[in-house]
Amino acid sequence: MKKILLILVFSFLSLSFYLSSRFKKTEVKDADTIIVSFTILEDIVSQIAGEEFDVYSITEPGEEVHGYKPTPSDLIKASNGLIFIENGFGFELWSDKFLSNLNLERITISDYLEPIYITEDAYTGKPNPHAWISPKRGKIYIDAIVLALTELKPESEEIFVKNGKVYKDRLSQIDKEFSLFINTLKKNERYLVSCEGAFSYLTNDYGLAEAFLWPVNAETQITPKRMAKVIKTVKENDIPAVFCESTVSAESQLTVVEETGAIFGGNLFVDSLSLEGGPASTYIELLEYNLETIKNSFHTHQEG
Ligand SMILES: [Zn+2]
Repeated sequence: MKKILLILVFSFLSLSFYLSSRFKKTEVKDADTIIVSFTILEDIVSQIAGEEFDVYSITEPGEEVHGYKPTPSDLIKASNGLIFIENGFGFELWSDKFLSNLNLERITISDYLEPIYITEDAYTGKPNPHAWISPKRGKIYIDAIVLALTELKPESEEIFVKNGKVYKDRLSQIDKEFSLFINTLKKNERYLVSCEGAFSYLTNDYGLAEAFLWPVNAETQITPKRMAKVIKTVKENDIPAVFCESTVSAESQLTVVEETGAIFGGNLFVDSLSLEGGPASTYIELLEYNLETIKNSFHTHQEG
């Protein structure tokens, strides 16, 4: 009996020791965790934070973000974070309700951005959320995040400012390459045709016109009228290539291809990064991949 009691006491002691050390570990880690809404923001914040913070995204790579519904485990993970950073402009339709259950400070990047408004369908008059898709606007994301992190950890300001500067230099380089490419295009080719109307900031910043099959992914019903309009635009302007996005089906765009003789240029990345090892597993890779994909399909056409 004594022996059993001794074993029990010993087991209890080791279990409490194990639990307390685990708990402490989690506590330390969580004190440094920033919660973000989507994977592109996760990468941008991580690049600036360096070793100073852990960054955790509620939505995962490759996931459609607009219609996301948080799970109870998302709430548990977020409850341990320091702050919540989101894009805003209506991109995270779920975040108001999500945050109402949490005691988390909220940073909304769109507070720092000039909106471009959606001009079609149910979304008319609402800001287009996809500002990060233009490297010029990406720099504003970086500035906003440097500010937010500095406020959280003023003693690491130098690190955040330095990381932000290096990062912005990379964006300036992509910005320059994009402008150079646009200058090689004939006037009728200066069109970006996509599935979702997610490229307004890019087209606006680089002097392109845009056409798309639907304004926002949250409402992906394609109407015959809209399809006819895109087909007409592609035919009339002899647009060489059309595109879709990685998180939605390209089926409707392939109909445009059949009807017009334009080539299908490929899937661009907008709302979500690819899985690690994929072609767009960082924000910089995403911008470079989109630029290369657009470049290649237009040049294939020019050579053909
Ligand atoms: Zn989108």
